[in-house]
Amino acid sequence: MTTKVQQKYTEVTAYLKDVLEMIEKDSVTEEEAKWITKETVDGFREHVNPGFLEYRKTVTKDGQFAAVEWSDEGSHFTDVNGREYIDCLGGFGIYNVGHRHPKVVKAVSDQLKRQALHSQDLLDPLRAMLAKVLAQITPGDLKYAFFTNSGTESVEAALKLAKNYSDRQTIISTTRAFHGKSLGSLSGTAKNVFRKPFLPLIPGFRHIPYGDIDMMRKTFEACAAVGEDVAAVILEPIQGEGGIIIPPEGYLKQVRELCDEYDAILIFDEVQTGMGRTGKMFAADLFEVEPDIICLAKALGGGVMPIGAIVAKEKVFKNWFDNPFVHTTTFGGNPLACAAALATIDVLIEEKLPERAAEVGEYFLKGLKEAAKGHEDKVLEIRGVGLMIGIEFHSDEIGYEVSKGMFSNGILVAGTLVNSKTIRIEPPLTISYEEVDTVIQTFKKVLETVKVQ
Ligand code: PLP
Repeated sequence: MTTKVQQKYTEVTAYLKDVLEMIEKDSVTEEEAKWITKETVDGFREHVNPGFLEYRKTVTKDGQFAAVEWSDEGSHFTDVNGREYIDCLGGFGIYNVGHRHPKVVKAVSDQLKRQALHSQDLLDPLRAMLAKVLAQITPGDLKYAFFTNSGTESVEAALKLAKNYSDRQTIISTTRAFHGKSLGSLSGTAKNVFRKPFLPLIPGFRHIPYGDIDMMRKTFEACAAVGEDVAAVILEPIQGEGGIIIPPEGYLKQVRELCDEYDAILIFDEVQTGMGRTGKMFAADLFEVEPDIICLAKALGGGVMPIGAIVAKEKVFKNWFDNPFVHTTTFGGNPLACAAALATIDVLIEEKLPERAAEVGEYFLKGLKEAAKGHEDKVLEIRGVGLMIGIEFHSDEIGYEVSKGMFSNGILVAGTLVNSKTIRIEPPLTISYEEVDTVIQTFKKVLETVKVQ
C-alpha cells in the first residue's frame, strides 16, 4: 500500500469511528447535533447532490436551520435537535403500520440474530411463507409471488411478466400515472420532466387520459385494427403522485371487461394504494376488481425493511416456471425483508388498520374541508379515500407556502418547491384522532396566514 493510500485510510477510519459511535447513540448532545447537522448538509452539498438543499423545505426551512432526521416512533419522527413532527407524509405511503412498529422490529431483529441474507442456492423458508400469505390476502386468484426491493422493480417485473404472456407489445398506461423511474417503469410513468431526457423509452407504450373509458375502448380497437394488439393495461387504482386522482365510478370494472374481451393483462400498481391505505387491504378490493398482476412495495416492509412484490395469476406467472432465472434480483425476498413483511401483514390484520384508515380518513377529510372553508381563493379541492388524501391548491406557490407553514408548526406533509399544487396527506394508519385534530387546526391556522399573490 502506498503512503498516500495509507494516509487516506487512516483518515477514513478515524471518521468511521466517529460515525459508528454516533449510530450507537440513543440521544445526542447539542454539540453532537451540530456536528451531525454540519456533516449531513456538507455531505449532501459535496457528495450526494446539492440540488436537495434547494428543493427540500425540510432542509432549508427559511434558510435558518437544517432539519436532519434522527429517530422515529409511531406517528412521529424527531430531528437531531429533538424537535418532534407529526408525520403526515408517511414516506409517501411507507409507514402504514407506523414508524418502527415493535412487532415488525422484533421479527426483523429475531431473524437478524439467525440469518440476514439468503444463500441464493438453498430454499429460503420466509420467501415461501410470505408468498403463501400474499396469495391468501390479495384479491381473487392471484397466486404466485416474485419479490423485489422497490416499487419500480415490482413494475419492471410486472411488465416483463405481461410481455411473456403473449407475443404482443402494446402496453396502455395513462396520463398522470406514476410507476417509477427505472427505464421500463418510466415508460409507463406519465410526467414529461421525468421522461423527456431519457427518450426513447421502451417501445409500445401508449398513454391515454386516466378515467376515460371511451378512449380506452377506442385504443383497444385501434391497436387491434393495426395489428398492434394490447398486451397489458397498467393502472394505479387511485393515482398517487399524479395528485390523488380517484377514478370515475365503474371505470376500473370497465377496464377489466375490456382486458377480458381482448385477452389483455390488467396490472394494478398498488405500490402506494396497497396494504390498507385506502380503507381496504388493497384498492382492488375497494373497487371490487381483480387484476391479473398486482404490484406492491412501500408499506409492505412495514417502514422497517425495503421490499416489493408482484403477485400474479397462475395463467400469467406460469411462463416463468420453466426458467425461474429469467427474471431475478439478488436481494429480492431476502429473509430480513420477508420477516418485516410477514409481521407487517399480521399487524395490519390484528390492529384492523385498513378499517381504521377508512374511519380516520373520513374524519380527517371532513375536518380538512371544514378548515378550508372561506379559503376558496387558495384551496381548489380536497379529496381522498381512506388515509390517502390530496389538498389541491390554485398554484404551486400557495401549496408550498402551506406545506412550509405546516412544517414550521411541527407537521410534515409532502410538498416541494416545484411540486406543491396538490399536497398529499398519507400518515401512518395508526395516527390518533388527537393528532389528526392537531393537523386540522394547524392547517386552518396556516391557511389564514398564507397570502395569495
Ligand atoms: N408505483 C407507484 C404507484 C408509486 O407511487 C411509486 C413511488 O412513489 C412507484 C411505483 C415507485 O416506487 P419506488 O420509489 O419504490 O421505486
